[in-house]
Amino acid sequence: MRPKDWIRNVGAGFLWRTGLSLPARTGRDRLTIVTFHRVLPDPAASPLPHLAVTPDFLRSALGFFSENYTCLPLAKAASAFFAGERPQRPLLAVTFDDGRKDNFLHGLPALRSTGLRATFFVPAGQVEDTSPLWHDELAWIARHLLQKERAEVLGSHFPELVLDGDAVHAVVQSAKALAGEQRRKLLTALRAEATDLRLPSWEGPMPWSELRQLAREGHEIGSHSMSHDVLLDRLGADQETEVAESRRKIEEETGAVVRSFCFPTGEYDETTLREIRAAGYACAVTTKWGSNDEATPPLELRRIDVQGDRNAGRGGRVNPAVLAWRLSRLPGTPVSGGSRETGDDRA
Ligand SMILES: [Zn+2]
Repeated sequence: MRPKDWIRNVGAGFLWRTGLSLPARTGRDRLTIVTFHRVLPDPAASPLPHLAVTPDFLRSALGFFSENYTCLPLAKAASAFFAGERPQRPLLAVTFDDGRKDNFLHGLPALRSTGLRATFFVPAGQVEDTSPLWHDELAWIARHLLQKERAEVLGSHFPELVLDGDAVHAVVQSAKALAGEQRRKLLTALRAEATDLRLPSWEGPMPWSELRQLAREGHEIGSHSMSHDVLLDRLGADQETEVAESRRKIEEETGAVVRSFCFPTGEYDETTLREIRAAGYACAVTTKWGSNDEATPPLELRRIDVQGDRNAGRGGRVNPAVLAWRLSRLPGTPVSGGSRETGDDRA
């Protein structure tokens, strides 16, 4: 354990034992929204391991939430919060981004065992497409090329990057600045360099049948756009289709009303917000770090990314003291104010 983490754990333990970081105290008058992406028995099997938690970790985190918070799917939690409801155990919504297969395979059993209902954000145009989302595919290819000691292929596309141990993450971050068309060209070129890459069976989307099952069990299906493209005017995204069409498509397939939207990679501009309003969403979540108060715009809600490696204690289960501290706004926490990317919490 790094000295910095040891000091953090000791501090968090003290705050927990003295009750200073108890959610009933720190989450009062706040709407807390937590983010997960993948649930995998072996997070290191993913090329973006910081976006994955183990089923055991998830189960213990959900246990912590249900003991300390009033947990509701996002649209219900936000509607209660902005209507002024302040239950003794503060409101919290659990969200899963990207709608990947592992959410159903490993996330749903953990939710069932804790009786908690969550929100799943799904790129509606990718549900019937078994290929990975663009950022996942880029990560798979980047890791493959690095493992095969073919870093120079990546280097020719990303001359500005240092291709070290964190290179996969850096490549994906760098590609987020590209317009959709440019990125598609990049992926086509890189795909041709990695024809021997084989993806595991758990890579790919949850099909509509599984999303319908989630909705039947009381979970919320929200929109995560059509394509998971970065929705910015300057990148030439077709924001109306991404925002409105995705809502229509999910409602048609699941029969449930879609009230929540999640900005792909957390990026949005004035056009996005206008489209979100026009399409009739009640709330939208960003990747800005923090919890929400009554002044937070419901279409720009903050979240807290719950990473396994940052919040785990013994046996890979959640360390309640550390998680409580991270969910609080006590000194030392990565509090609101930055536009920190989900999964980028490496500071
Ligand atoms: Zn996403």
